[in-house]
This record gives sequence, structure tokens and C-alpha cells, in this order.
Amino acid sequence: MPPGEVRGRVALRFGERSLTYGALAGAAGALAGRVRGAGRVAVWATPELETAVAVTGVLLAGAAAVPLNPRSGEKELAHIVSDSAPTLVLAAPGAELPAGLGHLTRIDVDASAAGTVPDTEVTDADPALIVYTSGTTGPPKGAVLSRRALATTLDALADAWQWTEDDVLVHGLPLFHVHGLVLGILGPLRRGGGVRHLGRFSTEGVARELAAGATMLFGVPTMYHRIAEALSDDPELAKALGRARLLVSGSAALPVHDHERIAAATGRRVIERYGMTETLMNTSVRADGEARAGTVGVPLPGVELRLVEEDGTPITAYDGESVGEIQVRGPNLFTEYLNRPDATAAAFTADGWFRTGDMAVREPDGYVRIVGRKATDLIKSGGYKIGAGEIENALLEHPGVREAAVTGEPDADLGERIVAWIVPADPETPPAAEELADHVARRLAPHKRPRVVRYLDALPRNDMGKIMKRALVADA
Ligand code: ATP
Ligand code: MG
Repeated sequence: MPPGEVRGRVALRFGERSLTYGALAGAAGALAGRVRGAGRVAVWATPELETAVAVTGVLLAGAAAVPLNPRSGEKELAHIVSDSAPTLVLAAPGAELPAGLGHLTRIDVDASAAGTVPDTEVTDADPALIVYTSGTTGPPKGAVLSRRALATTLDALADAWQWTEDDVLVHGLPLFHVHGLVLGILGPLRRGGGVRHLGRFSTEGVARELAAGATMLFGVPTMYHRIAEALSDDPELAKALGRARLLVSGSAALPVHDHERIAAATGRRVIERYGMTETLMNTSVRADGEARAGTVGVPLPGVELRLVEEDGTPITAYDGESVGEIQVRGPNLFTEYLNRPDATAAAFTADGWFRTGDMAVREPDGYVRIVGRKATDLIKSGGYKIGAGEIENALLEHPGVREAAVTGEPDADLGERIVAWIVPADPETPPAAEELADHVARRLAPHKRPRVVRYLDALPRNDMGKIMKRALVADA
């Protein structure tokens, strides 16, 4: 595309407000002039145009952006701000900042400013973002992500997804994690494509934007669940999804039941990719590959991936059965955990592989199938190692179950017993524990039946819709 045409193209649209590439360059360039030399810059990451301008401006200035979740509790925010020690905070005009940020100099982001990008000296190894992990398994840790890591992961995804300047993304995710910010904002900008942000996710918004010509949707499993539920009486939504070039899910496992329902109603299979704050993206089903429910595809270009047994022995068999921890190596990896040399050292093997803490098997054709997290999803019961994920998938196929999570708890006989946490489809008539246990035993194997069933109104989830298993277990 000639440069003039690029400048006139809509890069970002949030609701009624949009910026062309030319206007974005002007606004981000002006901001870059103001934050140059600032080191680390906090960004109050509301789902607004200003957040995208702020992060782009910080990157153009050669500084590092620290996106803050506006919905974090006071304690989490205090931890992140004292850990990352920014000097400035960028926010949309009118955004109210909590008292805990009162010591920082505030700059209001002007999305209509026009400036030029200042000269900066940066290298690929310099930090571009400090992103805090989701805090699913413990307090969030700040992952320092270099400019090289971001570029590498986005280019690998472009290859896997045949992602081009013609793609327009429907975006309904928050902007303070890798999924929404790196994939959802920096990804389209790197390609020269467009973003249509919904502000707040809705199935109506997805249908509207896809019908208007958007080509891709990125979502977390809770969004695809809502889509799967809405599809049964929304033919417009089914038609819109059927037109999309790519439906991508990530951040947590997409339940097989939702994957299949969407495929049946739209003729399209959602593809899954697997990543982490620390590693950015590791694997994906490729756009020209086969999407299979419950799998996260193959390693992305440049990513080395292996499974290892508990004693560190690599598993070479692609037999769909041998479970090991996923370890990865490559230019997509983070530099370090901020202020945590101990945690950084513990996360790597002596020869530089990053221990993801996720357990998986490899199918004969190389596809990775995640079994669950080592810490919370692997239940050692009666001499077996059982993954929570397949039991959750089996439970979700029961018509009386809306949501399901599986954990282990100590058991004198079995070592650990399987506990199923169930949100019933109809709270008046929850399916009986015995019936659910039989359902799982029939579908999987008798030793995978839940021994205890606990009923809840909702599962505890974080902002990305991830199930907070440590909260479940703590409440027991
Ligand atoms: P914390 O590290 O603070 O406990 P977290 O691990 O949830 O939180 P993230 O870095 O946001 O923080 O999430 C990465 C994790 O999300 C992965 O380690 C993996 O367990 C899970 N995950 C991401 N994508 C997928 C996927 N497609 N299928 C299954 N799990 C996934
Ligand atoms: Mg993690």
C-alpha cells in the first residue's frame, strides 16, 4: 500500500471514536515527546482509544509501558505500582484515578494532538512493556517484555494466521494483559490492519462488527461460551460468525462443548492458541491447519517446545498420552520478572528452557493438548495422574451443568479425591452428585468420577474470565 493510503486508513475505532493511521501517528508522536526519557510509564488501561494512543506513544518514546487494570483492588494496585515504580501515569481525560496513584505525575492523553516522533535511541533488547501476570496461582508478577519479544511473537502469529493489513479485528477484551493489548492492539497496528473495540463485549457487538466487514475475533473462553449460548436463537450471529476469516480463543482452555456447539451452528471452528504473559505466544492452530477441539495446535515459528517428566527427562513420544510439563525456549520469552531474581532463576532450567507450569500431551501429528496446570489441575488419585480439564469437559456436556471446575483435595485412601464444583443450569433442579459421577465414569473412566460434588451460584473468575481455583479451594 502506498504510504498516503496507509495514513488515511482507520487504525482504531472504539465505539463512535476512531483514528486513522495518520492521526494515530500524530497523537502518539505528540505524547512520545512528553514522556521521552521517563523510563517506566504507567498507563491507566481503560478500554478506550486513549489507552491505545498511550501505549503507542510510550513505545515510540523508547520507554516501557506498565498497563494498570482499572478494576484492580487497592492492594493489588499498590503492589504493582510500588513494584514497577513508574514516574508518570497516562490516563484518558476525565478518568478518575485512585488515591494510590496520587504521588505520580499525571498526563492526560490527547487523542487529537498532532506531533512528530522524537529521536530516541533504543535497542531490541530494551523493555517495551511490563505486564503483570493474571494472578491465577499467586500474587501477580511483573514480566519484563522486550521490543524484540513483542515483534517476534506478532510476526510468528502473522505467519500462523495469515494475518495481513486487510484484517479487521473485533476486540472486546481488556487492555492490561497480553491478549488484549499485545495481540489485540499492537498486533493489528504492526500489520497495518484495523481494530474495532466494543468497549464492553457483547454478542450483539460481535455480530454487528463482523456483519460490517471485520474479519477476525479474538476472545477468551467465557466470551465464546456466551456466543455458544446466544447462537441457538440468533441466526444473525450465526451468519456473522460464519463469515469471519478467523475466530481465535486463548487465555484459558476453551471447553470442548462450546467449541462443538459453535461449529455446529456456524460451520466455523474456533482455533486455539496458547500463551503466557512471560512467553507471549507459544503455539497455535494455523489458519491453514485443522482446528480440533481441545488442542492448541503446534509451536509457532521460532518457538522450541518440549514436554518433560517430573525428573526433567524430555518426553519424545507423540502418543497423545504421555503427560509432561511444557517447557519453551525462543526469542518470544520475557527478559525477567521485575525485582524477582529468585523467581526468574527458578523459572528457567540450566540450559535456558522456561518452565511454564502447564502440563500437556502431544498428539501423533505434533498438536499440543493441554491437560492443565501442574499446581492446580493435576490430581493424583488412587495411583493415577488425572487432568482436571477432561473431567470439566465431560461435566459441561451434561445438560444440567452450566459451569464446572474440578480440583483435588486430600483423601486418606486415594491420596487425593476428585471434587467437582458445579453451577447448575437450573438452580431449582441441580443434577444429583451420583448422576454426575456416573456421567463422568461412562464418558471417561471409573477412576475419573468426582467423589464430591459442590454446588455454587457462580465460579470465582478474574477479569479474563479465568477460574480462580485457589479461591475455590480456600473457600472449601
Ligand atoms: P499467574 O501466573 O499470575 O498465576 P496466569 O498464569 O493465569 O496467572 P497469564 O500469564 O495471564 O497468567 O496466563 C497464562 C496461563 O493461561 C498459561 O500458563 C495457561 O495455564 C493458561 N492458558 C493460556 N492459553 C491457554 C489455552 N489456549 N488453553 C489452556 N490454557 C491456556
Ligand atoms: Mg502464570
